[in-house]
Amino acid sequence: MDAESAKQGPQRDGRFDDGKVGVYLHLPYCDRVCPYCDFAVIAARPLEPAVEARYVAGLQLELEGRRKDFADRTLSSLYFGGGTPSIFGPESIRALVDAVHSAFPSSPAGEIETTLELNPSTLEEARVSAFREAGVNRLSIGIQSFDDGQLKRLGRAHRARVARSTLAAARAAGFENLSLDLIFAGPGQTVTGLDRDLDELLEWSPEHVSTYELTFEAKTPFGRALAAGKIEACDEDRAADMIGQIETRLEGAGFERYEISNYAQPGRRSNHNARYWQRQAVLGLGLGAHSTEARGRARPHGARRANPREIGEWRAALAMDPSAVGELESLSVQTARGEAVFLALRQREGLDAGRFEAEFGAPPSAFFRSEIEAAVERGWLIEGPEGDLRLSAQGRLFADSVAADFVAAEEIERVGN
Ligand code: SF4
Repeated sequence: MDAESAKQGPQRDGRFDDGKVGVYLHLPYCDRVCPYCDFAVIAARPLEPAVEARYVAGLQLELEGRRKDFADRTLSSLYFGGGTPSIFGPESIRALVDAVHSAFPSSPAGEIETTLELNPSTLEEARVSAFREAGVNRLSIGIQSFDDGQLKRLGRAHRARVARSTLAAARAAGFENLSLDLIFAGPGQTVTGLDRDLDELLEWSPEHVSTYELTFEAKTPFGRALAAGKIEACDEDRAADMIGQIETRLEGAGFERYEISNYAQPGRRSNHNARYWQRQAVLGLGLGAHSTEARGRARPHGARRANPREIGEWRAALAMDPSAVGELESLSVQTARGEAVFLALRQREGLDAGRFEAEFGAPPSAFFRSEIEAAVERGWLIEGPEGDLRLSAQGRLFADSVAADFVAAEEIERVGN
């Protein structure tokens, strides 16, 4: 707890805060950097043991420094993201799992969901069993496509054969909770090509699937190639067709589209990611990690913290004060309201008007009447009799633009005040 919160005393509203914490550890090293990647990553081939050990020690130091802000919370989930966490050795992963468990007690009921992102490769395949022994019980595997041409166009390091053997190794090691990543709307991808990817993905019977529409961020090689006219982005209508195609195929196979980009078999939603969508506390550690800090008297609408994306800056911040790494932003009421709508609309259950009113003092229609009417008129939004809001099937194809309108409305109000 920081000095300000200690002075105010803990204050937790059980209607909005589950009293738990999810921990995210960012492991930024990758074999090589993919041309569309906009994450905080560092190319390292191979990852030197001294670099690995130094980074792990940095994470442990940050955990010790930051845990006070999440004191008295039980651990709800643990997530190793990146980067490519699986290029770290299982002993490093075990040390970090142990450190997080000693920082936060876990509730005695059930196992803590512990996810590790892993890329298909022979090196990582050989480590899969050891990751399980280190405490990982869920793998998120960066398959992206089963088509070698597509993988090549995406600039991925692996090929489909390796993806298949990594999947087989994960099942053989006893992993019963696999999430597979799939990229769509990549350069030159056709609807038929996507269908073939979905055929093979379903043959592996994953418990969870995350889908990503390829985006061209300005500072990436793909972004620059797009600006120079050397690469063509998938047009909006084809991308919308692909979103519909994925939904039809996966729902037909028993998946639930519980968040706009995420599908799960019954009971297999990602607990960790749900914490961000439900605005619950998350402690993010490492390069470029984000934390969601809980609401309290000092920060009635919560706060978020963003760690430096550059390794030298992160280390310098750690050396200066490991309890205060990153930029802390207390959320204004307008930002919190915009986020509440944005995140709720991305979820299957949509926005509960009663819960929104309990937090913000009035129902969504009091703040967003014109945005609601415009989206309902276009057939993108459904407004229930109690004022609850959720996206229609058509709205789910354009979820980002619908949700962005609500955030923009609050941003205008915030700047105006
Ligand atoms: S493997 Fe993932 S994190 Fe690493 S560079 Fe590629 S997209 Fe980025």
